[in-house]
Amino acid sequence: MSTFWGPDFDELRATDPEVAEGLLTELERQKSKLQLIASENFASPAVMAAQGSVLTNKYAEGYPGKRYYGGCEEAIDPLEQLAIDRAKQLFGADHANVQPHSGASANIAAYYATVAPGDKVLAMSLPHGGHLTHGMKVNFSGKWFDVASYGVREDTETIDMDQVREAALEHRPKLIIAGWSAYPRQLDFEAFRSIADEVGATLMCDAAHFIGLVAGGVHPSPVPYCDIVTFTTHKTLRGPRGAIILCKDDWAQRIDKAVFPGTQGGPLEHVVAAKAVALKEAMDPGFKEYSQRILDDARALASGLQDEGYRITSGGTDTHLFLADVTGKGLTGADAEQRCDDAGIVLNKNAIPFDTNPPAVASGIRAGTATVATQGMGPDEMRQVAALIARALEGSDDDRAAVRGEIGDLVGKFPAYR
Ligand SMILES: *Cc1c(COP(=O)(O)O)cnc(C)c1O
Repeated sequence: MSTFWGPDFDELRATDPEVAEGLLTELERQKSKLQLIASENFASPAVMAAQGSVLTNKYAEGYPGKRYYGGCEEAIDPLEQLAIDRAKQLFGADHANVQPHSGASANIAAYYATVAPGDKVLAMSLPHGGHLTHGMKVNFSGKWFDVASYGVREDTETIDMDQVREAALEHRPKLIIAGWSAYPRQLDFEAFRSIADEVGATLMCDAAHFIGLVAGGVHPSPVPYCDIVTFTTHKTLRGPRGAIILCKDDWAQRIDKAVFPGTQGGPLEHVVAAKAVALKEAMDPGFKEYSQRILDDARALASGLQDEGYRITSGGTDTHLFLADVTGKGLTGADAEQRCDDAGIVLNKNAIPFDTNPPAVASGIRAGTATVATQGMGPDEMRQVAALIARALEGSDDDRAAVRGEIGDLVGKFPAYR
């Protein structure tokens, strides 16, 4: 057996010092600042080892046992089957397709399997937390489909299922999408199911953000209620960049055909292997503790900011993320993002519901705790971080430099990679 398996950093440095340097710069950035971007995480060295492997060399169009290329039987088929079996087991799904290259690719395939151009779709409004693949005008979803949207109530900033039902009865969509990129609460999948049944729609959940919480058992699962569930593997699930589609048996063939040959060519089997590793990690009892820590951290950080005088949309969070309205402090989301970054705190500006600022400016910030929970930080650290964020936002350049120093001490105690 050969012992060579892949990444050799010295080799990279010798061949391409510029790229090697870029990797080290990014590693340093990830380790030295506090990462609070809600869609990010730190994948394990095991995940990255599988991803940076010789599997990148192999073409494998098709599915295990039914390939359009030879040479898949020895390793590729068993590895992809392992990823499929683990995904089905972890989420209690009838069927899994582990080939989508990204969350957007998974959604393209899900549309391809369920609707035709011009068909009516109902999804969460973008300014209220939906994703660009849920009908943004400049995205394929908004160009090719007739997308109507549901949003949050102005008084509660939460989704009201009576309003979703009214929208479904009015628009009679062929496909309903439950899921979000920036919404701090849990969705009522059972209510979505009954609305979909009432109007004869297919129900898809885009669980990109919260699927890791589902895996850890701290968030309700959409799987029993939805025909199709798409999710990314690199957010709370902490795997490689990519996505998976789960579906009921009746959809299995249509979903597989929609991924390949419908919308993709050869699968990225190095990423599929890394997905298998991430799924194994998510089956470990430690992942339950991890998921609970994500929630505890998000609640502690949100309530810490509340104590500092920031309004948290919907009053709190049931997930890994929350939105804080910064306008009460005379700031915009863009200002806040920049001030935090200057202080070594990385998060993003985000529209809040009924925002009066344009999206590029925005009135809020979005913060998530999947990364800091991976580093082992708990609610005590989050209370400290809330005070540091407030100082970064409200203080002077000198204050931000001081916060930067304290952030350095904090991340030094909880290194992302050793
Ligand atoms: C992140 C996200 C996606 C897209 O994932 P990519 O891998 O960036 O294409 C899709 N849907 C939702 C809800 C997301 O949050």
